[in-house]
Amino acid sequence: METLQRLTRRQVETLEIIAAVETPIKAVPLKSVASALKVRPPSALSHLTPLEALGLIARRRGKSRLTPRGRSTLVEYRRHHRVAEHLFARVGFSPEETCRAAREIDLALGHNTVDRLCRSEGHPPTCPHGQPIVPCQGRPERA
Ligand SMILES: [Zn+2]
Ligand SMILES: [Zn+2]
Repeated sequence: METLQRLTRRQVETLEIIAAVETPIKAVPLKSVASALKVRPPSALSHLTPLEALGLIARRRGKSRLTPRGRSTLVEYRRHHRVAEHLFARVGFSPEETCRAAREIDLALGHNTVDRLCRSEGHPPTCPHGQPIVPCQGRPERA
């Protein structure tokens, strides 16, 4: 099973929060994660603990930061989400609708499936919101 397929929506949100708040010199305290998730610290911790077990975040003195693996997982997640958005836009969904629909499937899709969709969509450079879609890197493209 691929890493993304093992994550919950809340765990992905937690990764996004850490990515947005951390700086090269500052890790993210539990209470910042909790307030961004709008939950109490114990439930924020219940999202952080499995992320740490998967090696996606590192925690020190109660503060979290993304590991290189966490960072690449987030890049993959955004690629899955945006390729799915592109597909839904093409079949007539509005930009807001594409985001909602993409969330229904983005964690469940395997990387190969996303690559096939990306290929059939003509390798779009951006999602319907103008956010970049990273190319199918490291995976040979077949004509
Ligand atoms: Zn592609
Ligand atoms: Zn988008």
